[in-house]
Amino acid sequence: MSKIDILKIAKSAQIAKSKNEHVIDATIGMFYNDDSKLIIPAVEKAYYDLDLLDAFKYGATDGGPMFVENVIDWVLDDKRKSVEEKFLIGALSTPGGSGAISLIFNTYGHVGDKVLVPNLRWRYEYFLNAAKLKVHEHNMFKGDGFDLEDFKTQLNYLTSIQKRVIVVINDPCHNPTGFSLSDKEWQSIIEILNSFDKNELILVYDIAYFDYDPKGFKNARNNFLAFKQLKPHVQVLTAFSASKSFAMYGVRLGGLLGLFHTKEQQAFFKVHVLEDALGKWSTAPSVGVGIFNKLATKKDEYVQYLITLTSTLKQRGEIFIKEALENNLDIYPYRGGFFVLVKSNNPEKDYEKLIDDNIYLIPMEKGLRVALCGITTKEVIGLAKRIKNVVGA
Ligand code: PLP
Repeated sequence: MSKIDILKIAKSAQIAKSKNEHVIDATIGMFYNDDSKLIIPAVEKAYYDLDLLDAFKYGATDGGPMFVENVIDWVLDDKRKSVEEKFLIGALSTPGGSGAISLIFNTYGHVGDKVLVPNLRWRYEYFLNAAKLKVHEHNMFKGDGFDLEDFKTQLNYLTSIQKRVIVVINDPCHNPTGFSLSDKEWQSIIEILNSFDKNELILVYDIAYFDYDPKGFKNARNNFLAFKQLKPHVQVLTAFSASKSFAMYGVRLGGLLGLFHTKEQQAFFKVHVLEDALGKWSTAPSVGVGIFNKLATKKDEYVQYLITLTSTLKQRGEIFIKEALENNLDIYPYRGGFFVLVKSNNPEKDYEKLIDDNIYLIPMEKGLRVALCGITTKEVIGLAKRIKNVVGA
């Protein structure tokens, strides 16, 4: 299948929706509430309260000390103290989670090396291509769970041909399936990573959707405690997306957080990641940094609001899954989050047929992605059946 352009498909869906209110636009990963509103009031207020001069001036390459402090606090929350007992930490601002991912690949990848990614994934190849790295896939699912065996087999292969291996895990609420690893699966992954102690492993922990984890804001951060078991050859580099957590997708803010076992690892990050940022975008947008810093002072209030969004999303997911079961619609394992992936033998053809029924989804290599985040709960009702009518035909 040729490379899909999600933004382009989403644009065509938006145009169709503007002409016909019955169109269901489940294309893009942006959260709309049940009144079809995207902007979160507290974020809007923080934007209007910005000091214009601060927003227009050059920022610091790492976002400045206040941002660094706030982003560590946001990502680790009540796990911070415990994590700091074990690891040295480094952080900087980036243009979206995308910027963080790009920095990791460029800084830690050796040109021509292969990076371990699941066979169902977000579009990491764009960042890999830019860093002159290659994809190496592991199978994602075995039955209803993560295929630990193939993960280990493929990592075993890569560690036999490369000293350093970058491993990408997008969890929880994986894009495009909505799968989340269980604590037990994470424990096994940690043991597998620990077992390759002749190598240097970089775990890219892509937490783009963690603030919508149905397990809750605090539990979504439990893995950081589990990471304390990691041996020194495994560095965790976390890509945080403020686009998702604050519904400010076009503002382009994210953060990269590194957990280091040694001063050398930390020093390498400080020098080389910052240099890569300087060579790419100089500084992340000051507007995003300013909004984030303002909201960080009202964290508890904002987290309460996030909980209401998560519960709306959970409800949409429950309706879709129930109806998928009732209608024998085959989907990949879903645990929560923005997307569900429907199995399809011919995604491009099914995508086109669904448009005839006013349903816009994203055709992917192994299925059709349904963005539950982008449609109202009312629109979810009956959707699985309508998709089944096309996919099952
Ligand atoms: N990671 C995943 C899995 C995503 O789906 C996205 C965006 O869709 C991102 C990271 C990065 O998002 P952004 O750069 O907008 O923060």
